[in-house]
Amino acid sequence: MKSIKKTLVIGLGLIGGSLALALRKAGLGGTIIGCDRDQSEVELAIKIGMIDQGSTRAEDWIAEADLIVVSVPVIAMESVMTQLKPLLRNDTIITDVGSSKGSVQTSAVKVWGRLPANFILGHPIAGSEKSGVSAALVDLYQKHKVILTPTQDNNRQAVSIVTQMWRSTGADVLTMDIARHDEVLAATSHLPHMLAFSLVDTLASQDESLEIFRYAAGGFRDFTRIAASDPVMWRDIYIANKPAVLQALTEFEQGLSRLRTAIEESDSDAMLGIFTRAKAAREHFSRILENSAYIPMQNKLINYRTAPGNALSGRIRVPGDKSISHRSIMLGSLAEGVTQVKGFLEGEDSLATLQAFRDMGVVIEGPHQGEVTIHGVGLNGLKKPAGALYLGNSGTSMRLLSGLLAGQAFDVELTGDASLTKRPMERVAKPLREMGAVVETAEGGRPPLVIRGGQALKGIDYQMPMASAQVKSCVLLAGLYAEGETKTTEPAPTRDHTERMLTGFGYEVTRKGATASLQGGGKLVAGNIDVPSDISSAAFFMVAGSIADRSEILIEHVGMNPTRVGIVNILRAMGADITLENESEVGGEPVADVRVRSADLKGIDIPQDQVPLAIDEFPVLFVAAACAEGVTRLRGAEELRVKESDRIQVMADGLQALGIQCTVYEDGIDIVGINAVQGGKMSGGRVHSHDDHRIAMSFAVASLCSEGEIFIEDCANVATSFPGFVELANKIGMKINVEEA
Ligand code: NAP
Repeated sequence: MKSIKKTLVIGLGLIGGSLALALRKAGLGGTIIGCDRDQSEVELAIKIGMIDQGSTRAEDWIAEADLIVVSVPVIAMESVMTQLKPLLRNDTIITDVGSSKGSVQTSAVKVWGRLPANFILGHPIAGSEKSGVSAALVDLYQKHKVILTPTQDNNRQAVSIVTQMWRSTGADVLTMDIARHDEVLAATSHLPHMLAFSLVDTLASQDESLEIFRYAAGGFRDFTRIAASDPVMWRDIYIANKPAVLQALTEFEQGLSRLRTAIEESDSDAMLGIFTRAKAAREHFSRILENSAYIPMQNKLINYRTAPGNALSGRIRVPGDKSISHRSIMLGSLAEGVTQVKGFLEGEDSLATLQAFRDMGVVIEGPHQGEVTIHGVGLNGLKKPAGALYLGNSGTSMRLLSGLLAGQAFDVELTGDASLTKRPMERVAKPLREMGAVVETAEGGRPPLVIRGGQALKGIDYQMPMASAQVKSCVLLAGLYAEGETKTTEPAPTRDHTERMLTGFGYEVTRKGATASLQGGGKLVAGNIDVPSDISSAAFFMVAGSIADRSEILIEHVGMNPTRVGIVNILRAMGADITLENESEVGGEPVADVRVRSADLKGIDIPQDQVPLAIDEFPVLFVAAACAEGVTRLRGAEELRVKESDRIQVMADGLQALGIQCTVYEDGIDIVGINAVQGGKMSGGRVHSHDDHRIAMSFAVASLCSEGEIFIEDCANVATSFPGFVELANKIGMKINVEEA
């Protein structure tokens, strides 16, 4: 903003005044000039140091301003622009703060014939019910969002200067297109204000003495707070954003009328459906939305600082298996009848699956302490969701759902966060297309995916090019909707939870060697599921208990599915002391308590047949390898490069930062161990998890054999797969400190 020597703020109200105060505090924008129709407001603004100079006559300042901020009501924008036009220099940058953007664009087109290249439309998402200079606050925009709606014709440098201006006030700046801004605002701000105004007006006119308000409790006060906002401003906003507001109102009226019918008919299921969906959506939004009502949240930056190791002891139970939790929601939703789930993993990923089914009309109660009740709608009972299904960071949800959704009657879009958006989806899109599905991906076969409904699917015999349980499950789930037989043959064994759970829901799946097949057109029957603890979560403690000195821990009720026990087999081959106790079977899945004692680990060549059985556990197995005596070699694991991060490279980078020697190959890695038992130690240091939960937890485990502290960056995603990891780890003797950046 160095080029800005003079900034002119037209309209010294709450919004313009607060901006002037913030710019002066930041020392940006050069001389701040303020204009207002009201002379006393200008005088007050100068007196309190809000502006350097000003008057009631904007026309006197326009030619000398480098930056002009128009902060008058949207309805007055056109007259201010008309005033600007004859006096404006070519290089002056203009921006506005209006609450609707389409109308401001229309006003500009009326005045100039098109939106000038230097006119950048903007809208700060901050405010209050007050107006005028005296209401202005220097920190009004701190930690609030400002939406800019630049067009293709806008000058990039002008966009950058307006962005810098808002950032200097402490705001987060994001961009959106004009129409989208107006729709989003209509739904999230204009509609709620309209409802608050209307409700208070309706009740007030029913009760002349306003007696009724004496009995109004906190809910009413919260809901109607915004009815105290400036009436003139809101009138202007409804005039300016009429089409989008009316569209939002129509959708709301339809929803209200569905609720009305449910109440009239005492339809308890319908009411429960609406309320549980709304409650869950509110909670879901709180997770993906930050303070302001509609902005996708950037995860908080969380780092771990770990102190060097200790002897571990104790008995722990890790959270429910993620794969089984996902599938219990999917199959429970598509089953006929009510499914009760216990031990459900309340992590972000499985909650994303749960929310997706709620969005498709399934009534799901809970989760409450791991218990979920799913009112199944049958294989053909899903409804078209109102918008795209947001799957957060969950690749499992996206890949499995794409199979199920290929067979629905409606179109659906699957989206996710920035990390999911980078992951390959062509591997599921390809076999689905062979079955007759229409699946569109973004560039490079990445999300978002659009799946077109109403396609007749036919069974295929799919020879899978890669060993991936997600691809196998996707094809088999699409097979439920296909004509004839759907067969998958895998090049190496992968997890079989889908096949097991389908059988558990009464759907026949034939399994011969590497081939699984099923006939389309059957039905799923609801049942109860007791989710075993996740062996992938237990894996961190299996390695921790093995590498820490003088340790013994017991991990309870761990799922021991034969397609998942690679971690136990590999660790045992390295010399780990792992014993299984209380072995039993729960809902078709084997479970056991796992006892782990410190051991003298040796480097090995990891057997090829174990690679797919331990695919998610390699980050922590690399830590075991780093502590072992001798070299551990892994090959045939190229799959690791397309997980939440490139797990081969990211682990190698981290291990090297801790002084471990390793050589990276396209499909694997060689790691030279430090022989911890003989007193070898990793150095401490700083490692980056690249937003990958398993990398973060693996380096936390590494601290058990490190000399100094390990600082692990970017660990917020641990909550995704393993809620309570740090508490459990510290309970048995690890030393992890969570730091919010
Ligand atoms: P405000 O406090 O009432 O200030 C509006 C300012 O514009 C006043 O200085 C007013 O002058 C001036 N003005 C009104 N009509 C005018 C006209 N025809 N010509 C020239 N100046 C005129 O309102 P505000 O809350 O700052 O709102 C300003 C803009 O910000 C609006 O476009 C609004 O949509 C947007 N906005 C508001 C909020 C919010 O929560 N308040 C949030 C985001 C964006 P007088 O002193 O003579 O009335």
